[in-house]
Amino acid sequence: MIAFLGGTFDPVHNGHLHAARVAAQALSCPVRLVLSAQPPHRSQPEANAQRRWAMLELACAAQAGLDADDVELRRGGPSYTVDTLKALRLRHGDGPLSWIVGTDAFNEIHAWRHWRSVLDLGHLLVLPRPGAELRGAALNLYLDRRCPDLEQRPAGGIRLLEEPMLPVSASAVRALIAEGGDAGHLLPDGVTNYISRHGLYVRSV
Ligand code: ATP
Repeated sequence: MIAFLGGTFDPVHNGHLHAARVAAQALSCPVRLVLSAQPPHRSQPEANAQRRWAMLELACAAQAGLDADDVELRRGGPSYTVDTLKALRLRHGDGPLSWIVGTDAFNEIHAWRHWRSVLDLGHLLVLPRPGAELRGAALNLYLDRRCPDLEQRPAGGIRLLEEPMLPVSASAVRALIAEGGDAGHLLPDGVTNYISRHGLYVRSV
């Protein structure tokens, strides 16, 4: 098994790192964090891709077993998961492969480009993000595809983890910094230093 956690990482925070560590333990495999250079389903990030990548590299360098992956950064254009999984299949072969998402992102799966192909290409490991219960069509899809042992096949299953996640979001981090607050307790040290060195997320007056 190999697993990937995709994100805008604007900035990467302790919630992402905790999620990646829990996923790595649950799947007994390495987890790679994939920077979405141009997220297609949301407003444009505040920090540019080069800065978000620098922060992701700093965060992963301090974490054994986690690596930053620039597959979407190098491709350019909108970062559709289906395209990323095709590229990852070419790179990693036919074995079990999981794409990790929080419940907030999974609840929107029917809006993802070619979402059925996403499940043909990989499994989904869903993390129970605080405040985002599985609902609607995504809940039905989970009930249809749930699979406690994703190792059994290369793709097509959905596993929901029960381990609690941290109540941290990048938008809360950005808002705190914009208000002049200290977000150090929500971020890896290297990322805190990078943000203050480059004056990121500070409200311009
Ligand atoms: P924003 O607040 O700007 O929307 P975010 O904190 O949700 O950002 P993203 O980079 O958009 O961060 O998230 C990437 C992936 O990580 C998504 O699948 C998201 O659900 C998941 N994720 C983010 N924060 C957490 C968390 N605290 N616990 C578990 N999963 C998380």
